[in-house]
Amino acid sequence: MAEAPVTHASVMRAESLARHYRSPRGFLRGHATVKALNGVSFELAAGRTLAVVGESGCGKSTLARQLTLIEPPTAGALFIDGHDAANTDAATLQRLRRRVQMVFQNPYASLNPRKTIAAALAEPLVIHTPLNRAERAERVAQMLQHVGLRPEHAARYPHMFSGGQRQRVAVARAMMLQPAVVVADEPTSALDVSIQAQILNLFMDLQEATGTAYVFISHNLAVVEHVAHEVMVMYFGSAVEQGPKAQVLGAPLHPYTQALLSAVPALKAQDRRQRVPLQGEMPSPLSPPTGCTFHTRCPLAVARCRAEVPTLRELAGRRVACHVVAG
Ligand code: SF4
Repeated sequence: MAEAPVTHASVMRAESLARHYRSPRGFLRGHATVKALNGVSFELAAGRTLAVVGESGCGKSTLARQLTLIEPPTAGALFIDGHDAANTDAATLQRLRRRVQMVFQNPYASLNPRKTIAAALAEPLVIHTPLNRAERAERVAQMLQHVGLRPEHAARYPHMFSGGQRQRVAVARAMMLQPAVVVADEPTSALDVSIQAQILNLFMDLQEATGTAYVFISHNLAVVEHVAHEVMVMYFGSAVEQGPKAQVLGAPLHPYTQALLSAVPALKAQDRRQRVPLQGEMPSPLSPPTGCTFHTRCPLAVARCRAEVPTLRELAGRRVACHVVAG
């Protein structure tokens, strides 16, 4: 008898999520609209990891602020556990905030230096749960063990830990409320290379144990390769290629994805890709290019690219925003 396919419940869905800001152009020159996030859509199931990649300024961190409900979108919708976060009552919104937690790049900045690790880990339980002191202490002890720290670490302060240990504490704090989704914004880029793999493996072990979904924001494609199930490549506030990791990283179609991947150094000669040149810098958000925003740097650009914005279309098992490429 054929096995039934494993289905994962959807925990987060973004529909055309956008965030625009008004930015002053200068004295007597009015304001410009900066489209930091420009219509991003995805669906994330329990136990899965969506990696978001791109250069700095591509909209990754703006997306993180939307997903963690730190600021509302200008347009579009975000569904968490099936609830539209922008159109729900205050009690549900508070519950949704608990369901999405964040891990930041710099664990030291995200921990209060005057609080012991036990107090830092217990804090979300004090705020959001009716657990008593003994029950909280038990949960803290269990979590320290899950993230590879020892019971005696509970009484120490953040400055007494190494960078890797501090990031373990930050991960533990994010997991204390058993969230549906953890948004991790460059969680290993401030760590020594030798420690990065340990933290990535910790994320993966916790996901296997808890079924938590991750949105993993990174500019490091080696990290993305390690953790992702799905990949979304962003450029200038929009997704340009999006789909399963095997397709997007194994056989990239968008010229921007190809350029990012070709810039990754490979140890083995057979893994080295032909280098795709990426000209120039990301354009200014105050004067975005017409048509495809990548046309100022794209080696394949044709006249149509300067006039018409490409939309994401299905191509060879992923979605690509490009007029020119074919599967
Ligand atoms: Fe390059 Fe044109 Fe495709 Fe944009 S639409 S990525 S400019 S080929």
